Amino acid sequence: MQFSELGLSNDILLALTEKGYTEPSPIQAKAIPAVLSGQDIMAAAQTGTGKTAGFTLPILQKLLETNTTNKVKPNNTRVLILTPTRELAAQIYDNIKVYSKYLNLSSDVIFGGVKINPQMQRLRQGVDILVATPGRLLDLHSQNAIKFNQLEMLVLDEADRMLDMGFIHDIKKIIKVLPTTRQNLLFSATFSPEIRLLAKQLVNDPVEISVAAENTTASTIEHWLIAVDKNKKGSLLHHLITSEQWPQVLVFCRTKHGANKLTKVLESQGHKAAAIHGNKSQNARTKALAGFKDKSIQVLIATDIAARGIDISQLPYVVNFDLPNVQEDYVHRIGRTGRAGVEGQAVSLVSADEYQQLVDIEHVIQQHITRRDVEGFMPQNILPESRDIKPIKNKKPKKIKGLNDDKAKRSEHKNGQRSKSNKKGHTNQDKQGKAFSSTTSKKPNKSNTNTNSNNTNNSSDPYHKTR
Ligand code: AMP
Repeated sequence: MQFSELGLSNDILLALTEKGYTEPSPIQAKAIPAVLSGQDIMAAAQTGTGKTAGFTLPILQKLLETNTTNKVKPNNTRVLILTPTRELAAQIYDNIKVYSKYLNLSSDVIFGGVKINPQMQRLRQGVDILVATPGRLLDLHSQNAIKFNQLEMLVLDEADRMLDMGFIHDIKKIIKVLPTTRQNLLFSATFSPEIRLLAKQLVNDPVEISVAAENTTASTIEHWLIAVDKNKKGSLLHHLITSEQWPQVLVFCRTKHGANKLTKVLESQGHKAAAIHGNKSQNARTKALAGFKDKSIQVLIATDIAARGIDISQLPYVVNFDLPNVQEDYVHRIGRTGRAGVEGQAVSLVSADEYQQLVDIEHVIQQHITRRDVEGFMPQNILPESRDIKPIKNKKPKKIKGLNDDKAKRSEHKNGQRSKSNKKGHTNQDKQGKAFSSTTSKKPNKSNTNTNSNNTNNSSDPYHKTR
């Protein structure tokens, strides 16, 4: 399959050639024709599969075709792309700029943590594609800086993360103010029952696309772990970076405090390191990321909040300094390496007290992580042997306030009476929400779906605080 077979204009094809893309990735080969056909889509794509171009390219093509008839008016947008994090928003915007460099289409990005006035000014002239995080978008909408009268398409990217981060209410508020006739594209790394419940309220008779089994990790990633005592992790990391001559490494810590502390330790050992997390100003985050991208920073230390937004091509090493509490975050974290076919290594430093997290992660990824010993760092507190891995069972959707409420309301409306319990709604959803076919299909099938989702409704989400 070639990009030229997908119905994209020569100007888009030229931009792709210049970017060095030779052929579409599997998600792109499936999503591009589906989006161009005007249907809603629901796509399960793991990180690093090229999903951004999968929705951006056909959006550009569609806008291009109607650009003369549907000129965007002041304070309006034709396409809204919602993302959970600022970094991801900025990254999607960067991609759009690259792919649309030969097109007469405008795009912009808005997110919290930076001044709102410049964003209001920019929006005055209207923008064809707007990438946004939910909170700041609502602020701008309440101040009439953005209207949706001309909206043609909505993209919800990383929908699973949106729910994890507690954005459901914001998303619902946004959907309420959008025109009802629009094309909807929903992307999620995993398709838990909760996401399916959201999808039912959002997409209409969608084409379902899946390119990889849920909660699996890219096959180009080699996973391994080193059992080590907690207090030795810092020196072990220093040892690995220097003895194995890692040119660059992205390190994940569980807490902001831990990330700051580790940054200081590594700096004192002579490494150029920077931390990126929710307590850092947007400028500091952008600077750290830019430094990492231009290689002036060797070690970038991040908390999970930053994980979704970081796309550094050919990043060879990702280290879990602490294992994440939410198992699925392991998949997202290591999705920062091994991207787009490039080989990567994901190294976890695991202390004995993290055994349960390790068991949970191995269950989610359905494989044992290879253990390696490093001389001089053998632990005194022994990490027990991994357990046999049990297959993942389907789970009922968890009750997410707001999401399930609506479902109940809709069934009330439909039946003309109060629904007796939400539980009934769950059962229906369970029946309908199982399928996610591994190929493009119009109708859901009844194949198995891994649904080991974990809802961490993060009330301390920094994005809510700062918007
Ligand atoms: P994404 O999953 O959208 O975050 O993309 C992951 C990485 O793959 C990004 O660095 C993209 O620039 C790159 N990428 C996307 N599509 C292609 C393609 N067709 N060929 C090569 N690289 C690609």
